[in-house]
Order: sequence, then structure tokens, then C-alpha cells
Amino acid sequence: MPNTARRVILQCGRSQLAIPRPYSVHQLRIYGVAPRPGAWVRPGALLELARQAEVDDVKALVCRGGRAVFEDRAEPEVRQPTDVMIRVSCAAICRTDVYVARGVIPVADGRVPGHEFAGIVESAGPAGTRVKPGDRVVVDPLIPCGACIACDAARPHECGDTRFLGIDRDGAFAELVVIDESAVHVLPADVPDTVGAYAEPLAAAMAVLEADLTTGSSVAVTGTGRIAALTSFVLRQFGHDVYEITDATRWFDVVVETDLCTANAEATLGLVRPGGTLVMKSRRPGVVGVPPLLCIPRRLRIECVHYAPFDVALAHLPRWSTWLGRFVGSEWPLEGHDRAFDLACADESLKVYFRPQS
Ligand SMILES: [Zn+2]
Ligand SMILES: [Zn+2]
Repeated sequence: MPNTARRVILQCGRSQLAIPRPYSVHQLRIYGVAPRPGAWVRPGALLELARQAEVDDVKALVCRGGRAVFEDRAEPEVRQPTDVMIRVSCAAICRTDVYVARGVIPVADGRVPGHEFAGIVESAGPAGTRVKPGDRVVVDPLIPCGACIACDAARPHECGDTRFLGIDRDGAFAELVVIDESAVHVLPADVPDTVGAYAEPLAAAMAVLEADLTTGSSVAVTGTGRIAALTSFVLRQFGHDVYEITDATRWFDVVVETDLCTANAEATLGLVRPGGTLVMKSRRPGVVGVPPLLCIPRRLRIECVHYAPFDVALAHLPRWSTWLGRFVGSEWPLEGHDRAFDLACADESLKVYFRPQS
């Protein structure tokens, strides 16, 4: 159920204070607004002080001091005429969210993480044309800069200076989220919410198709979780021969990594044949050490891929919906975030979801 608690925002100059309702004006204590902290405010003074606006409280996970905590907070503000407010139906936890929630990827204090989700449009700004209230939608979490060569050429998915929902902007681990309509896409009717939330990981997996994969090459995918399974699935769907890694001494023309770290770099690069290609797609924060004496004498190529266009991934969701459904794992209210993040870290075979409305 939506959180129906309401509160009043009182503003005086630059000071702002949220006060839960119901309240008695005689009980209001306006910290930082009244002449001295903790002073009682007369009803008449309240009228002089306050520009009042009523807003709903919403449940959210919020990053504070390098960890995610549960909070009731004011509903997100609609600022632009193209802003869309979305009521989040379900939001999936991905590795990036774990890094943010545990402070490995630093974000601004108060940031709401979460970028893989499906929801219902609550309201759409007057200048919007793409969606209307009641539409079931998903969102492309990559926010292009709008100013680089790729953006100018209407290829925003190739933007090299993107921002990311849940890191640079407030994300989806909340009851409500506000997004510019350019990132909002209607979810096909036959795709469940939990699979709709898979559009972003699918776009990330489909990026491997942009690598230089000559049809007929032998391809191997490293890693054991759902990201590796999804990447292999996508490659096979597009006609590539993907082999299981059963023998660490066997070479492949192309190795796609989904879990590269310093500890496994030597083993991963050792799978690539001389002159072959390592495709990098995982996004571990920090630095990963690569052994030059394994790469240079064997003339290895390293190719990086990022995202396929979001609408291309979305177009494949209906056909692959049943297959993707195998990754749908447990569902949690936002209040259960500690356990949910623990589960998401412990086992990457299934997706763990938040249900912010529960
Ligand atoms: Zn993700
Ligand atoms: Zn750009």
C-alpha cells in the first residue's frame, strides 16, 4: 500500500522544515526557522512565516555515510515540464547497487540508489508526449550528457560522459521516482514487471554484439552467475558458438569476461588464443591489474563494450520473457534491505527485487 503519511513543508527564507501531520499548530516547534531553536511558534506567527505546501511522504532507501538506510522522505519534486513521476512496482538489485549501498561507489549523501525497475506513470509533465498516467513503463538509467559528439549525432547510447540513475540522480529504490520522459519507455503488455526490470541488464549483455565477433569464432564467457548466463544466451541467439570453459588450457578466439578482477586476470587472459580478443564488459570499481607479459607477446586485443541501445533490448524482451523469468528471485520490502543486499551478494544466480509499495 502507498504510504499515506503526509507532512507540511514550512519555509522561511532559505530554511525549510518538514513536519508530520496530523499536527496542532500550538505544538509546532520550528527548528531553525523560529527566532531561536526550539521556540514555540504562535499560530499567527506561523502564517507570517510559512509558505505551505503539502507533499506525500514516500518510503525510500537513502545513502548515508557509505551505507543505505531506510527513510520516509518527501516525495521527489517534479521540476521540468517533461518530468514523469513513476510509482515503482518492482526494482531489481544489481552489482552496481550493491557497490553504491555499501559505499564502494561513493555517491552524494541522501542519494537514492536503484536503476533497474518497472512502474506505473503517476503523473506526466505538460510538455510530455511519450507517456501518460497509468502507463506501465521501464526506464533507461543511462543519462547522456547531451553535449558530446555522440549526443549531437543522435547516438546517445554512445555518449562517453553519461550520468547514471541511482548514482548521479535519485533512483528507484523508493515508492516514487521522477525521470525525464526521454528515458521512459512503455513496457509491452505481455512482459511481467520483474522481467521489464531486466531491460537494462539485457542492454548491457547485448553490448557484446558490438564487439568484433567474426561469425564462426569460438567464444567463451567467464563467470558463473546470471550475467554470464545472459551474455551466453544473447550470443547464441545471434548465432555465435559459445563454448563452456571446461579446460583452463583450452584457447578461444574471443573471451567475454563478466567478472574480471586482479585475482582472475591471468586465468581469464590465458583463455584467449594468441592474436585473439578479450571483450571487457564488467564494471568493477577501482583498478584491475592486467599482466603485460601475458598480453603483449601473444598480441592480445582488449575490446570494451558498454550498452546496446535501450530500445533495442526492450524490443527483444517479449520474445525472451519466459527465458529471462528463470532469473527472478526473492522479493523484499524496502525495510528488508540489509537481508536483500546480503542475498544479492551471496548468490548471483537469481535477481533479488524490492517491492517498494509493500
Ligand atoms: Zn544494472
Ligand atoms: Zn554525450
